[in-house]
Amino acid sequence: MGVETTPALVLAVQDWSSTSQIVRLLTEVHGNISVLARGSRRMSADFRFGPLDVLQWGEAAVVRQKRGFQLAGFAARTAFPQLARSATRLALALELAEVLHEGTPAAPQPGVLQLALESLAALESAPEETVQEVALRFQLRWLVLSGRQPVLDRCVLCDRSAPGRSPVRIDPWRGGVVCRACLRHPAPRITTLSVAAQGALRELIEAPAGTVRIPAAAEPVIARLLDLMVAFALDRPPRHPALDSVRA
Ligand SMILES: [Zn+2]
Repeated sequence: MGVETTPALVLAVQDWSSTSQIVRLLTEVHGNISVLARGSRRMSADFRFGPLDVLQWGEAAVVRQKRGFQLAGFAARTAFPQLARSATRLALALELAEVLHEGTPAAPQPGVLQLALESLAALESAPEETVQEVALRFQLRWLVLSGRQPVLDRCVLCDRSAPGRSPVRIDPWRGGVVCRACLRHPAPRITTLSVAAQGALRELIEAPAGTVRIPAAAEPVIARLLDLMVAFALDRPPRHPALDSVRA
């Protein structure tokens, strides 16, 4: 069987033996795949950058086998070294890798690798005051690419148009606006988005990574909403400790 070279981002690594690793790769053509990297812990022409590590990206030489894939070689381009400049940047990057690891199936993923790479590059270079926006944009764009774009213009239950210039209430589990008539039992997870927050969400979807400033008042609300939506998509508890009760 032939070797196929494809751009790949390393999402997780695990030692398999004294010379080999098991590696989680995000690729555009195969999605999130687990590969056995025989000999990757030894210096060789195939693994001349040494053992693979999380957040490295480069060209992966993969061989499809009867069951799964083997990694025949990896040529690293970068591991985004500037992320280590701050604990916040690194933590956000690792969180991004975890979302991709848990939330990406082994199937073609148009746009997801591109989103991951542009987000990591922006996390590396963005000014300190905008790194949070980069992470929020990643979460939102990831939801969009996963078919879970928050619905803002109509009620997800009755399809009634949402009022234009007024706040809306979002049910993160249902993925969008729930109108007053449909919202019979307000739950703690229901998030009210001001007009400014709705505008910031729309802008986050459209804008290139690292270019958006969310109004300070809207940021905690958007962060909470996206945290809940990503947690729901991944079927895990929300990250934000104060939100634990919301899940109950
Ligand atoms: Zn409704």
